[in-house]
Amino acid sequence: MSNHLFDLVRANLPADPAAKVFLETGEGARTTYADLIVRSGAYAAALVAAGVKPGDRVAVQAEKSPEFLFLYLGAVRAGAVFLPLNTAYTPPEIAYFLGDAEPALFVCDPAKHEALAPVAAAAGVPVLHTLDARGHGTLAQAAASQAQAFADVARGPGDLAAILYTSGTTGRSKGAMLSHENLASNARTLAQSWRFTADDVLLHALPVFHTHGLFVATNTVLSTGGTMLFLPRFDPAQVLALMPRATAMMGVPTFYTRLLKEPGLTPEVTAGIRLFVSGSAPLLAETHRDWEARTGHAILERYGMTETNMNTSNPYEGARVAGTVGPALPGVGVRVVDPDSGAVLGTDAVGMIEVKGPNVFQGYWRMPEKTAAEFKADGFFITGDLGKIDADGYVHIVGRGKDLIITGGYNVYPKEVENEIDALPGVVESAVIGLAHADFGEGVTAVVVGREGVPDEATILRTLEGRLARYKCPKRVLFVDELPRNTMGKVQKNVLRQTHAGLYGAGRA
Ligand code: AMP
Repeated sequence: MSNHLFDLVRANLPADPAAKVFLETGEGARTTYADLIVRSGAYAAALVAAGVKPGDRVAVQAEKSPEFLFLYLGAVRAGAVFLPLNTAYTPPEIAYFLGDAEPALFVCDPAKHEALAPVAAAAGVPVLHTLDARGHGTLAQAAASQAQAFADVARGPGDLAAILYTSGTTGRSKGAMLSHENLASNARTLAQSWRFTADDVLLHALPVFHTHGLFVATNTVLSTGGTMLFLPRFDPAQVLALMPRATAMMGVPTFYTRLLKEPGLTPEVTAGIRLFVSGSAPLLAETHRDWEARTGHAILERYGMTETNMNTSNPYEGARVAGTVGPALPGVGVRVVDPDSGAVLGTDAVGMIEVKGPNVFQGYWRMPEKTAAEFKADGFFITGDLGKIDADGYVHIVGRGKDLIITGGYNVYPKEVENEIDALPGVVESAVIGLAHADFGEGVTAVVVGREGVPDEATILRTLEGRLARYKCPKRVLFVDELPRNTMGKVQKNVLRQTHAGLYGAGRA
């Protein structure tokens, strides 16, 4: 049967079925492409046996492992909608996602089973399975007992393959619905634009619950029959040690700033790499220059988002310009418009970035009004990013219209953190902002107006820890008498950012 996304993998299998998918990470190491077909099929069969039907959501909060990828591919082959969740999410956060997505199956880490079983039950999830970082758990067992080869469930280009939740400006996360063709078209485009082949070995240290690690990195490699050094997390020393065995690396800017601190980063260590890619947050021009000076490689910066996959990329051949995200990828329309009038702006004029193409998602899960509000009548999606296009067609991102904070490559919407702080006793109001931070890019910072009885900084930080994913928790809490406001009563976060710019000792990015 034709299964649009998985057919892309099948059509590009390496000539030698014994070719490796993974070279590293313990028990999944040295898995071949022949194994990938068998194991993903076993997961697909286990999902069907658990009652998962075409179109059903399969929600997964599990650690990165080769088995995680087989589960993802198994869900695609079973015609289900894969729904990965950040491993940092707390049980109250998971409750929201399960309630909203109504999955037919939820897969969690065995260590979290006790805490999450009542959450899944309260959300009405019919089946709960487990999978750990070593690829063990009840789902792995169920997959191991599937004897037959799996016949892929038929899925067309427009059918959903995945839902990835983004953070919500009003505190509600939105599920971005991604079709088989959204993912397949982007994998094809990136593989061609970045010249991936079956000879490549990608150093993969990104998380796999996010579009960057799951789709940009993994789909690009799997659609070309390449190999991955699949690391559970980013560890600079380990990454450096493995670099001589790789031909490419994809990372967030924090990877590059951290590696630059390692004395072992030399031209010799990076000699076998043909491509370094950066994305998910702005790469400082300074980092781009420092990297080139230290290694001789110009980092290729690209721009995308959960909803759109990748939109622009600096060229493989040609100038990789520091501080820009390059021209639109083939087949993708990118324009800059006046946010008020909607008029398309010319060269170098700053406005709202809008995109259109086979990469752009199908809309927000069960939010038709929100979806309608984010798309123009001619099909362009309003990204929320502010930028300009220069005379050479290169896109420059100058700011974020949506007030997003990006810390270590993760997005934090201030509103969600403010809501938690405002609920504490003695808090009058709060404003959460991102301040330049040498390590994280931006450090989440809370500015709080308190009255009698307001908890001190340490108590607020401790209280938030159990309620919010760690990366969303502020690094510092500052107390002020009142928040600066404009005449319309809106809090002026730009003023707060200027006032506290040097808090973490880094200059403004
Ligand atoms: P996410 O949905 O988590 O991938 O986050 C998408 C957002 O990350 C975009 O809307 C941009 O604001 C930001 N982003 C991604 N790549 C870049 C980049 N190369 N430079 C600046 N911002 C970026």
